[in-house]
Order: sequence, then C-alpha cells, then structure tokens
Amino acid sequence: MPASSLTFEQARHLVETHATALRPAATETVALAGAASRILAEPLLADRDFPPFPRATRDGFALRAADVVHPPTTLRVIGEIKAGIAPAELNFHLASGQAVSIMTGAPLPSGADAVVMVEYTEVEYTEPAADEVKVLRSVAVGENYVPTGAEALRGAVLLHPGARLDAAAIACAASVGKPTLRVFRRPRIAVLSTGDELVDVHSLPGPTQIRNSNLHSLAAQISAAGAEPVLLPIAPDEPARLRELIEQGLQADLLLLTGGVSVGKYDLVEQVLAELQASFLFTSVQIQPGRPAVFGQARGRYFFGLPGNPVSTMVTFELFGRPMVEALCGMAPRKLVFPRARLKSEVRTRTGLTRFLPASLTGEFDDAQVELVHWQGSGDMAAIVRANCYLVVPPDRELLSAGEWVPILLR
Ligand code: AMP
Ligand code: MG
Repeated sequence: MPASSLTFEQARHLVETHATALRPAATETVALAGAASRILAEPLLADRDFPPFPRATRDGFALRAADVVHPPTTLRVIGEIKAGIAPAELNFHLASGQAVSIMTGAPLPSGADAVVMVEYTEVEYTEPAADEVKVLRSVAVGENYVPTGAEALRGAVLLHPGARLDAAAIACAASVGKPTLRVFRRPRIAVLSTGDELVDVHSLPGPTQIRNSNLHSLAAQISAAGAEPVLLPIAPDEPARLRELIEQGLQADLLLLTGGVSVGKYDLVEQVLAELQASFLFTSVQIQPGRPAVFGQARGRYFFGLPGNPVSTMVTFELFGRPMVEALCGMAPRKLVFPRARLKSEVRTRTGLTRFLPASLTGEFDDAQVELVHWQGSGDMAAIVRANCYLVVPPDRELLSAGEWVPILLR
C-alpha cells in the first residue's frame, strides 16, 4: 500500500480527473414541476427562434430612428400594439412620420426600427383616431427591442446534459415547451462509520461512547449534492466485520467510510481495504482538518476513507467527496472557487498545511467579514454549528492580518 501525501491542490485535481472519467447512472423522466435540482440528461434545444418576433423591451413608441434625429419631433400615432396582439392586427407597415404605441413584450411592426421610451415622449390628444406624439429624444436604430432570433436561433442548444436544474434552467425548459425532462437517476452513496465507541442515534451512549453523527452529516451532504445516501450499520474496529461491511458498501456507486484512517493501532480501514486489493490514489493530504483522508478504488468502485473527527469528515466530503458524488449524479465538472471576505482579526498558524478553519461570515452586501470561531479542534461539534463557512489559510501563510481579504469555503 503506497502511502502518498498530496498537497490540497494535487489531491483535488486528482479527484477531479477521476470524477471527469465517471459515467453517470441511467436516466429517468420527471415532471418539470419536480425537476428542480436534478441533473439534466438531455440537451435543451430552442424549439423556435428566441425571441420569436422582434420584441419591444420598453413601453413606448415604435418608430423610425431616422425620423427623430433632431428632437423634439412630432409623429402621428397610428395605433397600439399590446403584448400577445393577434397577428392579423399587425398587418401594416409603419411609414416615415408615423409612430405606434407599443408595450414591453409586444412585436415591433414592420417599418419600425427602434422604440423610444414613453418617458421621453409627450402625447398630444388631437382627435380620437389621430393622436400625435412629441418625441423628446433621438434613438439609435435597434434601440429598445430585441431582433428575432438574437437570443437563440431555433435548434440551438440552450443547455447541455450535465446542467443542474436551477430556477434559470427550469425557466429555460418551460420556455422551450418541456413539461417533462430526462434527468439522471440519483446514484447510491454508501456511508460506513467505523469505531467501537460509536452508538446509533436511537441508543443511549455509555459513559465512554459517542453517537454516530458522521453518518448523518454525510447523509445530509450526499442528499444536498443530489444523491441517495445508503446508511450502513456501524462497523466495529475489528477486521472481519469491517471487511464484510466494506464489501457491502462497495456494491453502491461510491463508498464513504469515516474513522479508522489515522495511524492508531485500531485504525484498520486501510488494512482491510488493502486485503480487498484496493488501489490507493492518496492516503494523506496536506490539509487541516482532514489530513489522513484516503481515496482509492476497490472492486471497480471508488471509496473515500474520511477521518472520523466530525469537522474533518464534513470538510473532506466538501473538498473531495462532493465532486465524485456530483459526477456520479451526471453533473458537469466544476472548479472549486473560494470567495473572499475581510478578516476581522488576525490569524496565526504554522506553515505547511492548507487549513480550512471553522469561521463565521457576517457583514452585509459588499462588506463580507469573516472571523474564526473559537474551537477545541476538529472534534468540536458545538463550534462547527456556530460556523457558517471555513477560512482557507494557504500553506505558506503564518500570519493573516486583520483587514486582509481572505479566501473562504462556503458551507
Ligand atoms: P478516528 O478517525 O477513528 O481516529 O476518529 C477520530 C475521532 O472522531 C475520535 O474522537 C472518534 O471518536 C470520532 N469519531 C469517529 N467516527 C465518528 C462518527 N461516526 N461520529 C462522530 N464522531 C466520530
Ligand atoms: Mg476510530
């Protein structure tokens, strides 16, 4: 078993490379109304030109730009065009010296080449059928309308398979007339917690036992990423039963183990995986928390051995587990980016590891402020619920000064 320790970036890139090569599971058809946050498995094509007609983008008057080069100019109003107007009513050609009252979302009549906003006009009601409009500003040809097909031509791919169906994608699907959508099935992600000290959430722990919280934090993270968690029973620190449960977990699309990957005498996970002829892609990453994280393959499946400390488990899922889960969901790969916030008070660390320290993001609008939450290390469950992000400390930084814009990982 080659023990290989990678930098954070190396480990992340390695996971991304393996994730990119994954093929997602089968597809299914779902109703548009229930498709939010699923992953699209078919391309969304424009079923017509977008817009399908030259669409006014302002309430105002459609006219010929050449008529209003020297404002103010009075034009004769020959009618009104509402959004959704019957095509027969559009059967006219706007001539020089004429204008037509037009609403946002209505089709520009032939002959017109611009719309002047109603705010820049004065309507003079001369007689019922022959109003006049005084245009107070010039407009450029093409102003305040979108030509037919300028957004997308019929047949153009608006969204590719692999897109997560957020509100914008759902709107796009509705716009092109898709009451149902082909999406990828949710992959099954097995979660196996290891440790003799663990008891199920239903049990009353003995004085030296703790409840199995990682099972549930991972299940929540897996669900949020779009997959289905498969919760396995707690594995004791004993090789035979551990192996049995690992073999069970390797039947899912991906196996996440927690605990038992450090250097302790009863950290048996790597040993048992090695017995199963696992290949290890990394067995340690230069991060804190989460340094002993393991990534590999066995029985044709990928697995992660995530460190057991609750904060380590959460962070390492976010950094390494999530891209694999998303790829199995069929989602197109995306790069991890760290937004920035202003550090409230200085932070000192030792160099060598990329740190993801529980932190609190506050402030408002463009004044994002971040500060560390006080914690007792990566087992501190009470601290992690006070945090809403992680401060990312690069491995070469000993001191981050107050007021500095620093990277954060949002949770
Ligand atoms: P380990 O990675 O097995 O050395 O465990 C590191 C720390 O995390 C120990 O204090 C464990 O008791 C704790 N721990 C391990 N697994 C879990 C779990 N599933 N839920 C909560 N804490 C855990
Ligand atoms: Mg353990």
